[in-house]
Amino acid sequence: MIKNKFSRREFLSHIIGNLTFLLVANNFLLKRLNAKTKPKVVIVGLGIGGATCLQYLSKISDLVEIIVVEKLNEYQTGPLSNLVIGDILKREDITFKINKNKYKKVKFIYENVRVVDVENKSIIFSKDLIINYDFLILSPGISYKNNILEGYNIADKKNIPHCWDGQSDIIRFKRRLSDLEDNSKIIISSPDYPYRCPPAPYERASLIANYQRKLNKKVKILILDSKNSFTKQENFFKEWQNGFRDVIDWIPRNKGGKVTFYDQKKKFVKNSDGQIIKGDFIHIIPEQKAASIFSDSGLLNEGKDWCEINPISFEVDRFKDIYAVGDSIDAWAMPKSAFSANSQAKVLAINLINKILGRDYIDPVFLNTCYSFSRENRAFSISAWYRLNITKDKIISLGSSESDVDANNYSRKLEAKHAFGWYETMVNDLFT
Ligand SMILES: Cc1cc2nc3c(=O)[nH]c(=O)nc-3n(C[C@H](O)[C@H](O)[C@H](O)COP(=O)(O)OP(=O)(O)OC[C@H]3O[C@@H](n4cnc5c(N)ncnc54)[C@H](O)[C@@H]3O)c2cc1C
Repeated sequence: MIKNKFSRREFLSHIIGNLTFLLVANNFLLKRLNAKTKPKVVIVGLGIGGATCLQYLSKISDLVEIIVVEKLNEYQTGPLSNLVIGDILKREDITFKINKNKYKKVKFIYENVRVVDVENKSIIFSKDLIINYDFLILSPGISYKNNILEGYNIADKKNIPHCWDGQSDIIRFKRRLSDLEDNSKIIISSPDYPYRCPPAPYERASLIANYQRKLNKKVKILILDSKNSFTKQENFFKEWQNGFRDVIDWIPRNKGGKVTFYDQKKKFVKNSDGQIIKGDFIHIIPEQKAASIFSDSGLLNEGKDWCEINPISFEVDRFKDIYAVGDSIDAWAMPKSAFSANSQAKVLAINLINKILGRDYIDPVFLNTCYSFSRENRAFSISAWYRLNITKDKIISLGSSESDVDANNYSRKLEAKHAFGWYETMVNDLFT
């Protein structure tokens, strides 16, 4: 057990009586808490991390006031979104609205948060609305580094949508993909680490190849990579060799994979060697950083793209009572994935409850499993386990296990089933 540093005296100023006592008291006593004196927990972002925090914190909704703020009316998941692009699922299958009936005591606000006012412990919305918090949880995901690739402007609607978040237009992406002529050349520019869901560019390439085949079109897919290797590489290579030989080519950074220039009108990119590569469909996956609310609110440490946190409490480095989770944090060995966000958010919420109740923190362990599809009913995965280092200031990996490269058809099919099972369990738990 780890002692939390929150002073009980400080907390008692928020509430009537001692909550540790109240927890073991009967419901009658709990109901007597005056709503105005309850500590206010505000959650920004109702994606995977935010919804997980909500699920856990709502267990003490008699003791705290919970407000959730989300800018979008519906949430489109990253997981399985490549299957929508690949025409295996429909957009509706991966789009959710939170079931508010499960959270009767929670207030939901659908607005964009512009900035956190750290001094006054409040969040400020685009519409000049202000909400105060006692504890703030931020799980707003990622934003993109603009002007990093010459010629590429992220806001330009004429580009192929990047589809790396729930706001990017997956239907337009798919339409442009379906409109491609026979023998077209598709270029996918894969970003440098760290970015959201490391295997997703390669899964996307596989499912685009599969889709074009279903449309009876011959295409060539060139993955121009800003890296020299990628996760589950041997499994992907095996799947491409078996299913998409002569369709997908991967060019690592040291062989000219880094894209440095993009010309949308003339439809070409240039690599770091100055070589011009033409394409009929040029899909840039932009370089990423923490959601802009972090930089706009001064919550990032100097020179950092990702938010630095305490790995036990998930409190933001240097900022008391502000917590961050999910893709926007630097989680050391943990990749940016829904599975990771879910696993981290459980720890954040449990330890925030412990702090509120004046209990000891749990010493966390984390898990991440990442499934990738190469076609319908063919998937493979990597799982890894994590805990804190001895000095308790870093998340380290305890080891990992990846699907066998020579797995047979049955195993690939079984893993696809597991992938759907994991997904359904998670979204049902969080949203429905
Ligand atoms: C193509 C693709 C495939 C993927 N596949 C997988 C997979 O198979 N398995 C896996 O584990 N992960 C996968 N992921 C990764 C996964 O989507 C993310 O890791 C996960 O969603 C991170 O959760 P989060 O809570 O940090 O952010 P999100 O889930 O993105 O949630 C952030 C929420 O915050 C809201 N928000 C942002 N800013 C504000 C603001 N200022 N005010 C109000 N609301 C705001 C957003 O609208 C959003 O709803 C994939 C991602 C992609 C792009």
